[in-house]
Amino acid sequence: MWFPIKRRRVTNTFLAVKSPDHNEKMKKYPSIDLGKCNKCMGCIELAPTVFKYNPSLGYVEVLELERYPLEDVEEAIKNCPKDCITWEGGEE
Ligand code: SF4
Repeated sequence: MWFPIKRRRVTNTFLAVKSPDHNEKMKKYPSIDLGKCNKCMGCIELAPTVFKYNPSLGYVEVLELERYPLEDVEEAIKNCPKDCITWEGGEE
């Protein structure tokens, strides 16, 4: 039997977990569209506390932090040659 495969946007962000009562605000976090990333490492140079190259997996990943440095991430977003970094989630 044949099943159609739906295309999905590939990202390497962790999942934002809601509290059991769903009242806790979602954390704002950066996300990389791995389908567009060319591994130029520019984001790692600009925000090394946020982005890291994972050599065993072969892609740039977003580290899980309590809070993300807004200015560093904004700089990485602005300078990403593939426009593949975005903010996801909600509140800071
Ligand atoms: S700056 Fe953009 S294209 Fe370059 S490694 Fe980071 S996410 Fe990928």
